[in-house]
Amino acid sequence: MESKITTSAFEGWNLDTQRPLIIAGPCSAETEEQVLETARRLKATRTQIFRAGIWKPRTRPNSFEGVGVKGLKWLKMVKEETGLLTTTEVANAQHVYEALKYGIDMLWIGARTTVNPFTIQEIANALSGVDIPIFIKNPVNPDVDLWIGSIERLQKVGITRIAGVHRGFSSFSESRYRNSPNWQIPIELKRIRPDLPLICDPSHISGKRNLLLEVSQKAMDLNFDGLMIETHPDPDNAWSDARQQITPEQLGELLDHLILRKTDPGSNGFMSKLEELRSEIDRLDQELLMILEDRMKVAASIGQCKKENGVTILQSARWDQIISKYLEVGQSKGFSEEFIRKLFMAIHQESINTQTRIMNE
Ligand code: PEP
Ligand code: MN
Repeated sequence: MESKITTSAFEGWNLDTQRPLIIAGPCSAETEEQVLETARRLKATRTQIFRAGIWKPRTRPNSFEGVGVKGLKWLKMVKEETGLLTTTEVANAQHVYEALKYGIDMLWIGARTTVNPFTIQEIANALSGVDIPIFIKNPVNPDVDLWIGSIERLQKVGITRIAGVHRGFSSFSESRYRNSPNWQIPIELKRIRPDLPLICDPSHISGKRNLLLEVSQKAMDLNFDGLMIETHPDPDNAWSDARQQITPEQLGELLDHLILRKTDPGSNGFMSKLEELRSEIDRLDQELLMILEDRMKVAASIGQCKKENGVTILQSARWDQIISKYLEVGQSKGFSEEFIRKLFMAIHQESINTQTRIMNE
């Protein structure tokens, strides 16, 4: 990392103010040795908060579902030995009571819990009168209101320190990510609730190690306040999420490679503006393709018509007419002649190909 940059996002949290805040530790607590070894090795990095899942929400049954309450004792040992603050996931009132009993410093709420207002309310009720810091992950579906609703339920019972954690969103389509980042959603959260610190969890977004740096850097460029990254002493043999975990030493290297740009309002505004403009471009490109698709359907009908009437595909006079008309329109819109020629030649060629296919069917 470059020179030390600080953040005021965690005021009142009793944390070192260096940006980004680092939360690290294994996906799951597995054994006392694994937990303690991870924590000892993380001490050499800038990690401030040690995470480990004790109760694991797994997609399918018969996977490792966490060690349960005995893992809380290991977290307590981590705190006593290393001084790292500790956090674990809670998904119901019982989890809350147990975690509080063992003096866990902060709690996190998982993506599968944030979606459910009943469960969030149950957790909120269990927390009333206990002002513990809470990290709340985005819901699995890209719904910023649901995320905000969960935050509000916690605030209503008196929780004052809440941070959002962006961990990506489920999708059916193939993607290079395990959970698609949809960056506009955390950006929207930040716009509506600029008072809340925002943390990125590149591990669950990426699903694999080789994307962690890229996603972490993106989060830094979008002015996130912290990172939650899964680390394990022997990642390949982790009992859950093996492919996305890295060693504490690899975490140290990743942090060394992060480029931190200044976070004055000018640059924040710039990055979210850029992100907004890029999604506008993406939307327009999609629209362009849809329009071209419609155009090809019409070309196919013309092909059918020509076939039935026994006329040739290429009607030169018509093509001349099109190109000269659009050269003129294009010029009035500030496009170069070369661009209009190339664009319409490509479109025309694709139409001819479509018609050829139809005529030879
Ligand atoms: C986790 O952090 O290990 C976890 C289960 O996260 P999520 O709720 O984001 O899936
Ligand atoms: Mn995990």
